[in-house]
Amino acid sequence: MKQSVSLVALRCPHCDTPITAGSSEYAWKCGQCGQGILLNKEKTLKEIMISYQQPAHEDSPGCPYWVLEVSVQFQGAHLPANRKEELTQFWQNLHKFFIPAFEMGPVERIQRSTALLRTPPIPISVESYQFRPVVLSPRDLPVYVEAVVLQMEAERQDDLKHLIFDLQLSEADLWVLPD
Ligand SMILES: [Zn+2]
Repeated sequence: MKQSVSLVALRCPHCDTPITAGSSEYAWKCGQCGQGILLNKEKTLKEIMISYQQPAHEDSPGCPYWVLEVSVQFQGAHLPANRKEELTQFWQNLHKFFIPAFEMGPVERIQRSTALLRTPPIPISVESYQFRPVVLSPRDLPVYVEAVVLQMEAERQDDLKHLIFDLQLSEADLWVLPD
């Protein structure tokens, strides 16, 4: 793993242990007490829950994901009449989105998120383990959620030209899944 050039000195808000953080990272696990830590937009540290799902594969760090619940309201006037009911029915329920938080190109990130929206991982909570750097800011999540909704709909039917919708996003949790 390449080391970031500039390092910021941070301390765990729970046990005050220094955390070595790359300049492009947003969340960590304290190496001492295991506390989940988020760098929020005020550049202060906040304690967060990190959920470790399924046992780690030996010798490879886990993959962190931002997990949030999303509801989508389509603006009906712009929907094709034959798809209106289907779209509304599918999206009116809350859906759990898993957006990869580790290093990945945007296209692959959208594809991975779309696949996990269709087939979400089964939650099995386990002990904490090491994971890859969290390089996606939670503030970037709305852009990805929107792209995933469009990707889903484009795959379901390719004649959709314009979709206008409102998104409601829950706060994001951090999940770590095996690689
Ligand atoms: Zn700590």
